[in-house]
Amino acid sequence: MLIIAKGNGRSYAIRYGSGINKKKYFLEGMMLYSGNLVYNPNHFAAVYSHELLHLYGAWDLYATYAQTIDRQARATELYPNDIMLRVDQNQGPLKVDKLTAWLIGWNQTEEEHFEWFRPSDYNK
Ligand SMILES: [Zn+2]
Repeated sequence: MLIIAKGNGRSYAIRYGSGINKKKYFLEGMMLYSGNLVYNPNHFAAVYSHELLHLYGAWDLYATYAQTIDRQARATELYPNDIMLRVDQNQGPLKVDKLTAWLIGWNQTEEEHFEWFRPSDYNK
């Protein structure tokens, strides 16, 4: 399910994946805000892509309630243009780097440090 609400807000996605409380969360989808689309279509496209990748298992690489500043700093060194690290369009091209590619199944080669980036709210 995709909901695009009028106005501004912080977009998010809920993945119906393994380990999720299926009584509490029974719907998989994304919530986006049209304010971003009107104000900056490129930013909206980046946010849309970021949230969609969550539905396929991508992790946030910026600091959140479940992701640490240390991991964000390391991701900034290793994957500075990864769309799961940032969604602004003014600092160079965004891409799906190899960690995110591994998470969503585009890259089959797991590297030793990938698991270190696992957010605290993601079960194996
Ligand atoms: Zn995210």
